[in-house]
Amino acid sequence: MGVPGHDDQPRRYVHFVEGGDRAAGHGHEFESVNPTTGKIWGSFAIATADDVDAAVQAAHRAFHGEWSTMSASRRGALMTRWGQAIADNADFIGRLEVTQNGKLLAEMKLQAQIALDWLRYYGGLADKIEGSVIPLNQTSVLNYTLREPLGVIGVITPWNSPTFLTIMSVAPALAAGNTVVIKPSEVTSASAIELARLAKVAGIPDGVINVVTGLRETGEAIVDHPLVRKVAFTGSVGAGKAIAAKLGQRLATYTLELGGKSPNIVFPDANLDQAEAGVLSGIFAAAGQTCIAGSRAYIHESIYDELVGRLAKRAKAIVLGDPLLASTQMGPVATSTQLSKDIAIVKDAQEDGAELIYGGQRVSVSDFGGYFISPAILTGVSQDNRLMRNEVFGPVLAIAKFSDEDEVVNLANDSPFGLAAGVWTNDIRRGHRMARRLQAGTVWLNTYRALAFNSPFGGYKDSGVGRVNGIDAVNSFLQTKSVWCELGDEVRDPFVLKA
Ligand code: NAD
Repeated sequence: MGVPGHDDQPRRYVHFVEGGDRAAGHGHEFESVNPTTGKIWGSFAIATADDVDAAVQAAHRAFHGEWSTMSASRRGALMTRWGQAIADNADFIGRLEVTQNGKLLAEMKLQAQIALDWLRYYGGLADKIEGSVIPLNQTSVLNYTLREPLGVIGVITPWNSPTFLTIMSVAPALAAGNTVVIKPSEVTSASAIELARLAKVAGIPDGVINVVTGLRETGEAIVDHPLVRKVAFTGSVGAGKAIAAKLGQRLATYTLELGGKSPNIVFPDANLDQAEAGVLSGIFAAAGQTCIAGSRAYIHESIYDELVGRLAKRAKAIVLGDPLLASTQMGPVATSTQLSKDIAIVKDAQEDGAELIYGGQRVSVSDFGGYFISPAILTGVSQDNRLMRNEVFGPVLAIAKFSDEDEVVNLANDSPFGLAAGVWTNDIRRGHRMARRLQAGTVWLNTYRALAFNSPFGGYKDSGVGRVNGIDAVNSFLQTKSVWCELGDEVRDPFVLKA
């Protein structure tokens, strides 16, 4: 297919199962809208339980077939080749993502490029997964462990960073020797199919990576399938809890990467230029559509007026526009639903007593009919304001004042979420004290929005269960078998148990 753009004729996608296209069993489709133009750009097959079953059976066959007999080194090498294929097609994948979710091309392209880092890292780990020999008290017995894959893994993803989040779950799953069935978000279904096609080109055997598209029901059919041994889910807290409850019923496992309402805390001794840039990037880069959005800014009273003034000035200057252009700083939000939600929460926050100092309005950009909103800043946001409590997933910043460290720790931790937190201070002791006291899976000191393939990432509290990135992510896709072997000739008394 050619390079995606805003003026394309609508494209039609079907599922990708066992290395090839699979049309929807009953022919039902859903449409996808380009958020920059507001026009339909693609249609996708809706997978029924039968389609999901076909994909899971294909993954199950591949799990017991070539993938299981292949050496771990070879598996890792194929993963790296896949990563290279994605990086080589980063412009195409990036443009496809922009057409789907309206995020900046620079970011979407970078995410496709760094998929190679993730696949190289996890591909490299594939032949370093080792069991151990256990020194038992019974010296005539050899006891060792085998680290084995779980089987078929369901990977269910959201729309904000589709390629990146897919690879974050799929890479450790494959490194461990599992096979996958991916269900991308209904907002951004195309890139997962293209990734699977590239995996085939890279030589990954058919059936190892399958993609079924559809709505929530398709995700539920994956969760309910008895051959799916684990679900790696990234999405909202409500869906995560529903999925965990179902998987718990049939004793299958899960990794949950869920929402956030992350605090960004600025102390008076911070480098204010850095803090200003960090608070801005935390919420307005990606139009706030990131799980790690620094959507609550707590600013010390002594610098409050100055920093709020600076943030408002910068927000007013943000260049809204076509996300395909390098000069654009904020594109549209991804869906009309998201736009309505953003506008509504700004109104709710004002009703709850906050002051809107800038933004929060729908704006028109050039001739585009899409979902553009001006970046919103609200001040004096109390702890019980709906804006302080709920994830927005849009460019809406809540600001509040604090006077001392204990107070701000309590404010920051007073949330059902615990995904990330930022702290801006030049006092090294205070920084590390805060890192210990904040209830969050990631704490950034004098930086924000930083992630790496080898550093664990995940949520405390309602923000999730388990970790992606780093070595532990592979361990979560493995199970341990203990093997016992009697080496001697002694014939045991069957009625006497020896310690
Ligand atoms: P969502 O929960 O609505 O949907 C995510 C995916 O799950 C979609 O593919 C959807 O079809 C599917 N789904 C929904 N309900 C399901 C169910 N009951 N059973 C099975 N599948 C189901 O989330 P979204 O709106 O696409 O994404 C935004 C959310 O994702 C935000 O809360 C954001 O914070 C979170 N997120 C978290 C991370 C992280 O790493 N922690 C990263 C990105 C996004």
